[in-house]
Amino acid sequence: MEFNITLQGNIIFGKGTLSKVIELINHIGKITLIVTGKKSTKESGALSKLIDYLKDIGVNFVLFDKIEPNPTLEIVEEGGRVFLENGCNSIIAIGGGSSIDAAKGIGVYAIYKEVRPFLLGEKVVDRKIPSFIAIPTTSGTGSEVTKYSIITYNEKKLAIVSNFITPDYAILDPELTLSMTPNLVRDTGIDALSHALEGLFSLGASPISDIFGYEAVKIIYKYLPRSFAKKGDYEAREMMHFASCIAGVQISMSGTGIVHGMGYPLTIKYGFPHGFVNALLMPYVFKFELPSQYEKMAKITKILGFGIGNDYFDAEKFIEILIDFYRILEIPKNLKDLGVKESDLEIFADEVFKNERLKRICPRTLTFNDILNIYKNAYFGVI
Ligand code: NAP
Ligand code: FE
Repeated sequence: MEFNITLQGNIIFGKGTLSKVIELINHIGKITLIVTGKKSTKESGALSKLIDYLKDIGVNFVLFDKIEPNPTLEIVEEGGRVFLENGCNSIIAIGGGSSIDAAKGIGVYAIYKEVRPFLLGEKVVDRKIPSFIAIPTTSGTGSEVTKYSIITYNEKKLAIVSNFITPDYAILDPELTLSMTPNLVRDTGIDALSHALEGLFSLGASPISDIFGYEAVKIIYKYLPRSFAKKGDYEAREMMHFASCIAGVQISMSGTGIVHGMGYPLTIKYGFPHGFVNALLMPYVFKFELPSQYEKMAKITKILGFGIGNDYFDAEKFIEILIDFYRILEIPKNLKDLGVKESDLEIFADEVFKNERLKRICPRTLTFNDILNIYKNAYFGVI
């Protein structure tokens, strides 16, 4: 056995833990930048609660509430300028993965006064960003514990990757997820599942990251349908918040894979939510990866209680389990019915093929035609 891992950040988990922000006063400083989206944290009351806690401990704040899904470089740079102009000492992100990812980028701007070269891989973040607390209100990305920031630039979703952008504190209060609609629960929950599965099958996986992956799959399989079906099911929402967090810890070690890479252009061009499009692609990608990862796929089938003992059959069964799971979650089967143009697939495949990092961690050698075939299978719904 051989591995080399880095674990980063503190995690505070539990009902009502939003109030724990008051115990972090030494990390916040005199003035903090609150980074959030345009609507949801105001409508749910999460933002006003946070502000009340900050007032209780005498912390001033500047509100940057312009984050939209798939945050752009422009908005991140604007947030960075607001941070510097107001002499902020720290950042508190409250919202979905988009707000937390944007806040990471804002932290990079606060140190280097630029973000673009880090996004393009021309420079590496080699210094700690300002003190950073992340408070997720969705259960999916795990961004509150990851070293990734996904930012849209020039119609592409690109990543800054650095341990120096991992939040210092993640406050996971499951109550903040109760306001999610069923579709948001589903789309974000499936993102967490895609992290757990891609993390398991990635060549970056290790025996430690796998522990988090198998556990996350087990929890999501049990609780996502419940969380999707019923808004007030606190236990299900709590377990999904836990699962997305541990899958985040996992992918910070293992990385994700081509499901994510192939999903990005579909999100940019057609606006499909990140997790939703990952869901659609997973069976087709995993069918391609099956010959090299059948033991792990078989192990998942066994963990979920469907194993018959033959690894190859059990691995095939894993794909069937996934498809059956999608029926409960009302996830469509193919890209064609969603209005995707077949002529786009070659353009998307070309973009994915140029991503060297994805090819490195893919468990099978990946050619342009492999990627195109996976897209075509997903397009026509051919497993
Ligand atoms: P999101 O884009 O942050 O939010 C989606 C929508 O959900 C927004 O309209 C938001 O509203 C709303 N929302 C958030 N919390 C809510 C709540 N509790 N109740 C009701 N509505 C709520 O969604 P996400 O799936 O969490 O994040 C996706 C982004 O994360 C993508 O850009 C993806 O690429 C990235 N990602 C990052 C990582 C990582 O490791 N960094 C991993 C996977 C994915 P408002 O805008 O009004 O807040
Ligand atoms: Fe994701």
